[in-house]
Amino acid sequence: MKRDASRKLLAAWLREVGVDYVPARAAAPGGRRAGGDPPGEELDAIRRELEGCRGCGLCKGRSTIVFGTGNPRARLMFVGEGPGAEEDRQGEPFVGAAGRRLDRWIARIGLARADVYIANIVKCRPPGNRVPTPDEAKACMGYLLRQIRAIRPEVVCTLGLTALNHLCGVDERITRARGRWREMDGIAVLPTYHPAFILRDPAREAEVFEDFREIGRRLSLPERG
Ligand code: SF4
Repeated sequence: MKRDASRKLLAAWLREVGVDYVPARAAAPGGRRAGGDPPGEELDAIRRELEGCRGCGLCKGRSTIVFGTGNPRARLMFVGEGPGAEEDRQGEPFVGAAGRRLDRWIARIGLARADVYIANIVKCRPPGNRVPTPDEAKACMGYLLRQIRAIRPEVVCTLGLTALNHLCGVDERITRARGRWREMDGIAVLPTYHPAFILRDPAREAEVFEDFREIGRRLSLPERG
Protein backbone atom coordinates (compact mmCIF):
# COMPACT_ATOMS: atom_id res chain seq x y z
CA MET A 1 0.00 0.00 0.00
CA LYS A 2 1.27 3.45 -0.83
CA ARG A 3 1.79 5.88 2.03
CA ASP A 4 -1.40 7.84 1.38
CA ALA A 5 -3.54 4.72 1.20
CA SER A 6 -2.14 3.27 4.43
CA ARG A 7 -2.60 6.65 6.13
CA LYS A 8 -6.24 6.74 5.07
CA LEU A 9 -6.84 3.18 6.30
CA LEU A 10 -5.31 3.90 9.67
CA ALA A 11 -6.99 7.30 9.92
CA ALA A 12 -10.39 5.73 9.22
CA TRP A 13 -9.92 3.24 12.04
CA LEU A 14 -8.64 5.89 14.39
CA ARG A 15 -11.66 8.09 13.67
CA GLU A 16 -13.92 5.13 14.27
CA VAL A 17 -12.45 4.64 17.73
CA GLY A 18 -12.47 8.33 18.52
CA VAL A 19 -8.74 9.07 18.13
CA ASP A 20 -7.96 12.16 16.10
CA TYR A 21 -4.61 13.27 17.48
CA VAL A 22 -1.31 11.41 17.48
CA PRO A 23 1.16 12.98 19.89
CA ALA A 24 4.90 13.01 19.23
CA ARG A 25 7.12 10.88 21.44
CA ALA A 26 10.73 10.79 22.52
CA ALA A 27 13.10 7.90 21.85
CA ALA A 28 15.50 6.06 24.13
CA PRO A 29 18.58 4.25 22.84
CA GLY A 30 17.43 0.80 23.96
CA GLY A 31 14.24 -1.13 23.48
CA ARG A 32 12.06 1.14 25.57
CA ARG A 33 10.76 4.58 24.68
CA ALA A 34 11.44 7.44 27.03
CA GLY A 35 8.62 9.73 28.09
CA GLY A 36 5.93 10.43 25.52
CA ASP A 37 2.34 9.23 25.56
CA PRO A 38 1.18 6.53 27.97
CA PRO A 39 -0.08 3.87 25.55
CA GLY A 40 -0.72 1.10 28.10
CA GLU A 41 -4.27 2.16 28.88
CA GLU A 42 -5.13 2.18 25.21
CA LEU A 43 -3.86 -1.38 24.79
CA ASP A 44 -5.96 -2.47 27.74
CA ALA A 45 -9.01 -0.87 26.18
CA ILE A 46 -8.41 -2.72 22.92
CA ARG A 47 -7.92 -5.97 24.81
CA ARG A 48 -11.22 -5.50 26.63
CA GLU A 49 -13.01 -4.87 23.34
CA LEU A 50 -11.58 -8.04 21.89
CA GLU A 51 -12.99 -10.22 24.63
CA GLY A 52 -15.57 -12.51 23.08
CA CYS A 53 -15.04 -11.05 19.60
CA ARG A 54 -17.12 -12.73 16.91
CA GLY A 55 -15.94 -10.50 14.10
CA CYS A 56 -15.14 -13.43 11.82
CA GLY A 57 -15.52 -17.19 11.63
CA LEU A 58 -12.22 -17.87 13.37
CA CYS A 59 -13.97 -17.31 16.69
CA LYS A 60 -15.56 -20.76 16.36
CA GLY A 61 -12.35 -22.76 16.61
CA ARG A 62 -10.30 -20.75 19.10
CA SER A 63 -9.47 -21.71 22.66
CA THR A 64 -8.44 -18.18 23.46
CA ILE A 65 -7.84 -14.84 21.77
CA VAL A 66 -4.12 -14.19 21.32
CA PHE A 67 -3.95 -10.45 21.77
CA GLY A 68 -0.23 -9.71 21.71
CA THR A 69 2.59 -9.49 24.18
CA GLY A 70 5.53 -7.35 25.18
CA ASN A 71 6.47 -3.83 26.08
CA PRO A 72 3.60 -1.38 25.47
CA ARG A 73 6.21 1.32 24.90
CA ALA A 74 8.35 -0.73 22.52
CA ARG A 75 10.38 0.96 19.81
CA LEU A 76 10.25 -2.26 17.80
CA MET A 77 7.12 -4.26 17.05
CA PHE A 78 6.77 -7.57 15.22
CA VAL A 79 3.69 -8.61 13.28
CA GLY A 80 3.14 -12.26 12.40
CA GLU A 81 0.35 -14.16 10.74
CA GLY A 82 -1.86 -15.77 13.36
CA PRO A 83 -1.79 -18.09 16.35
CA GLY A 84 -0.82 -21.74 15.92
CA ALA A 85 -1.88 -24.61 18.16
CA GLU A 86 0.51 -23.80 21.00
CA GLU A 87 -0.26 -20.07 20.88
CA ASP A 88 -3.96 -20.91 20.97
CA ARG A 89 -3.35 -22.98 24.11
CA GLN A 90 -1.12 -20.47 25.87
CA GLY A 91 -2.70 -17.22 24.69
CA GLU A 92 0.66 -15.79 23.66
CA PRO A 93 2.05 -15.23 20.16
CA PHE A 94 5.23 -16.91 18.95
CA VAL A 95 5.74 -19.62 21.52
CA GLY A 96 7.24 -22.99 20.58
CA ALA A 97 10.08 -23.50 18.12
CA ALA A 98 9.25 -20.50 15.90
CA GLY A 99 9.00 -18.27 18.94
CA ARG A 100 12.36 -19.43 20.26
CA ARG A 101 13.92 -18.70 16.87
CA LEU A 102 12.41 -15.21 16.92
CA ASP A 103 13.79 -14.67 20.43
CA ARG A 104 17.26 -15.54 19.12
CA TRP A 105 16.94 -13.00 16.33
CA ILE A 106 15.83 -10.35 18.80
CA ALA A 107 18.80 -11.18 21.03
CA ARG A 108 21.16 -10.59 18.08
CA ILE A 109 20.38 -6.87 18.30
CA GLY A 110 20.77 -6.79 22.06
CA LEU A 111 17.09 -6.87 22.98
CA ALA A 112 14.81 -9.37 24.69
CA ARG A 113 11.20 -10.35 24.11
CA ALA A 114 10.20 -8.09 26.99
CA ASP A 115 11.66 -5.07 25.15
CA VAL A 116 9.62 -5.49 21.96
CA TYR A 117 5.96 -6.01 21.19
CA ILE A 118 4.64 -9.00 19.22
CA ALA A 119 1.20 -9.32 17.65
CA ASN A 120 -0.47 -11.07 14.73
CA ILE A 121 -2.69 -10.18 11.79
CA VAL A 122 -5.50 -12.35 13.23
CA LYS A 123 -5.99 -12.96 16.94
CA CYS A 124 -7.70 -16.35 16.67
CA ARG A 125 -6.20 -19.56 15.36
CA PRO A 126 -7.10 -20.49 11.78
CA PRO A 127 -8.09 -24.18 11.67
CA GLY A 128 -5.22 -26.50 10.80
CA ASN A 129 -2.86 -23.50 10.86
CA ARG A 130 -4.02 -22.42 7.42
CA VAL A 131 -3.36 -18.92 6.16
CA PRO A 132 -6.07 -16.43 7.23
CA THR A 133 -8.42 -15.48 4.42
CA PRO A 134 -8.53 -11.86 3.22
CA ASP A 135 -11.93 -11.46 4.91
CA GLU A 136 -10.60 -12.75 8.23
CA ALA A 137 -7.56 -10.50 8.01
CA LYS A 138 -9.76 -7.54 7.18
CA ALA A 139 -12.12 -8.26 10.07
CA CYS A 140 -9.23 -8.28 12.54
CA MET A 141 -7.07 -5.55 11.00
CA GLY A 142 -8.64 -2.72 12.97
CA TYR A 143 -7.43 -4.22 16.24
CA LEU A 144 -3.88 -4.51 14.95
CA LEU A 145 -3.86 -0.96 13.60
CA ARG A 146 -5.08 0.27 16.96
CA GLN A 147 -2.34 -1.71 18.71
CA ILE A 148 0.23 -0.06 16.46
CA ARG A 149 -1.31 3.32 17.21
CA ALA A 150 -1.20 2.66 20.95
CA ILE A 151 2.40 1.46 20.97
CA ARG A 152 3.60 3.80 18.26
CA PRO A 153 6.83 1.89 17.57
CA GLU A 154 9.58 3.38 15.45
CA VAL A 155 9.95 0.16 13.49
CA VAL A 156 7.47 -2.56 12.58
CA CYS A 157 9.02 -5.79 11.33
CA THR A 158 6.58 -8.00 9.46
CA LEU A 159 7.28 -11.72 9.69
CA GLY A 160 6.39 -13.60 6.52
CA LEU A 161 4.28 -13.02 3.47
CA THR A 162 0.85 -12.85 5.10
CA ALA A 163 1.85 -10.16 7.60
CA LEU A 164 3.49 -8.04 4.92
CA ASN A 165 0.70 -8.23 2.38
CA HIS A 166 -2.20 -7.68 4.78
CA LEU A 167 -0.60 -4.98 6.91
CA CYS A 168 0.80 -3.01 3.98
CA GLY A 169 -2.06 -3.76 1.58
CA VAL A 170 0.24 -5.15 -1.09
CA ASP A 171 0.55 -8.36 -3.05
CA GLU A 172 4.27 -9.05 -3.09
CA ARG A 173 6.64 -11.97 -2.88
CA ILE A 174 8.49 -12.14 0.40
CA THR A 175 11.73 -13.17 -1.29
CA ARG A 176 11.74 -9.85 -3.14
CA ALA A 177 10.21 -7.66 -0.45
CA ARG A 178 12.33 -8.71 2.52
CA GLY A 179 15.01 -6.35 3.67
CA ARG A 180 13.51 -3.38 1.83
CA TRP A 181 12.23 -0.56 3.99
CA ARG A 182 8.82 0.94 3.44
CA GLU A 183 6.68 3.31 5.46
CA MET A 184 3.23 3.10 6.97
CA ASP A 185 1.76 6.16 8.62
CA GLY A 186 5.19 7.51 9.49
CA ILE A 187 6.41 4.19 10.87
CA ALA A 188 9.30 2.39 9.18
CA VAL A 189 8.34 -1.14 8.15
CA LEU A 190 10.84 -3.85 7.33
CA PRO A 191 9.60 -7.22 6.04
CA THR A 192 11.56 -10.36 6.79
CA TYR A 193 10.89 -14.08 6.75
CA HIS A 194 8.65 -15.87 9.22
CA PRO A 195 10.68 -17.93 11.72
CA ALA A 196 8.60 -21.02 10.86
CA PHE A 197 9.77 -20.66 7.26
CA ILE A 198 13.39 -20.43 8.40
CA LEU A 199 12.96 -23.58 10.48
CA ARG A 200 12.06 -25.33 7.22
CA ASP A 201 14.72 -23.57 5.11
CA PRO A 202 17.61 -22.61 7.42
CA ALA A 203 19.85 -21.65 4.50
CA ARG A 204 17.91 -18.38 4.27
CA GLU A 205 18.56 -17.35 7.85
CA ALA A 206 21.58 -15.26 6.84
CA GLU A 207 19.13 -12.92 5.09
CA VAL A 208 17.19 -12.55 8.33
CA PHE A 209 20.40 -11.74 10.19
CA GLU A 210 21.04 -8.95 7.67
CA ASP A 211 17.47 -7.66 8.17
CA PHE A 212 17.95 -7.57 11.92
CA ARG A 213 21.25 -5.71 11.49
CA GLU A 214 19.27 -3.15 9.47
CA ILE A 215 16.71 -2.85 12.26
CA GLY A 216 19.47 -2.39 14.84
CA ARG A 217 21.01 0.37 12.73
CA ARG A 218 17.65 2.07 12.27
CA LEU A 219 17.11 2.09 16.02
CA SER A 220 20.74 3.16 16.63
CA LEU A 221 21.33 0.10 18.77
CA PRO A 222 24.98 -0.72 19.50
CA GLU A 223 26.46 -3.05 16.87
CA ARG A 224 27.20 -6.50 18.26
CA GLY A 225 30.00 -8.71 17.08
S1 SF4 B 1 -9.75 -13.30 14.33
FE1 SF4 B 1 -10.04 -11.20 15.05
S2 SF4 B 1 -11.97 -10.51 14.11
FE2 SF4 B 1 -11.90 -12.76 13.94
S3 SF4 B 1 -13.02 -13.47 15.78
FE3 SF4 B 1 -10.82 -13.42 16.28
S4 SF4 B 1 -10.49 -11.42 17.24
FE4 SF4 B 1 -12.47 -11.31 16.15
